[in-house]
Amino acid sequence: MVILDNRAPIGIYGGTFDPIHFGHLRPNLELCEILGLDHVRFIPAFLPPHKEKPQTQADHRLEMVAQAIKEEPFFVLDDREIKRGGASYTIDTLKGLRREFPDNPLCLLMGMDAFSGIDQWYHWQEILDYAHIVVSHRPQTVSGIDGWSETVRTFYLAHQSDREMFKKSLCGSIRLEAVTQLSISATDVRNRLKNEQSIRFLMPEAVINLIKYYNLYQ
Ligand code: ATP
Repeated sequence: MVILDNRAPIGIYGGTFDPIHFGHLRPNLELCEILGLDHVRFIPAFLPPHKEKPQTQADHRLEMVAQAIKEEPFFVLDDREIKRGGASYTIDTLKGLRREFPDNPLCLLMGMDAFSGIDQWYHWQEILDYAHIVVSHRPQTVSGIDGWSETVRTFYLAHQSDREMFKKSLCGSIRLEAVTQLSISATDVRNRLKNEQSIRFLMPEAVINLIKYYNLYQ
């Protein structure tokens, strides 16, 4: 159980998690250590606005995330987007979290691929009114600032900041952080399952067991 330090930053990590894999888990543990996060909230999307509809129903994705993080005390499952239903807009999630945690800096954690398309998100310019953004490197995706559109680059350059700002202010900064690179994607995992290849060592055993139990991604 997380005992909240009501001044420490809280990490917020959204995704489809269809299925969750080590590429979602390891980078966030490192970000906890680097940024001194109180905890990271894993928030599975009900319907991601910028991706295809998930292959797996929401309650199975939720259960896979629960199993994946159950032994890591710094990780917390947050089902608010699934309970809310409809399109899962991050800005709505951030507004709810800000009401719930008025005194903690909020850090929206995402990979480089997600950040490079942030200017397509619903009300994206309001995100920094509620949270900081932490962008971590992700292999085989847009390599960095040079690969971003002019709009995203300008957004980053106007708000980039040092680590201390993440503790001193509740929201408003953007930071790039280097984490261990794991070239794993849910798309690749789904393809392997379709082709009857092994997915061992790409995700926790408990998630693999659930995939087998529910016969997912056939
Ligand atoms: P898909 O292959 O279905 O698109 P995905 O593996 O990219 O899925 P998502 O649930 O869509 O996973 O991603 C949620 C978040 O996790 C995004 O911010 C994304 O950048 C990040 N992410 C996913 N895989 C990795 C990885 N291997 N390394 C670092 N970040 C990752």
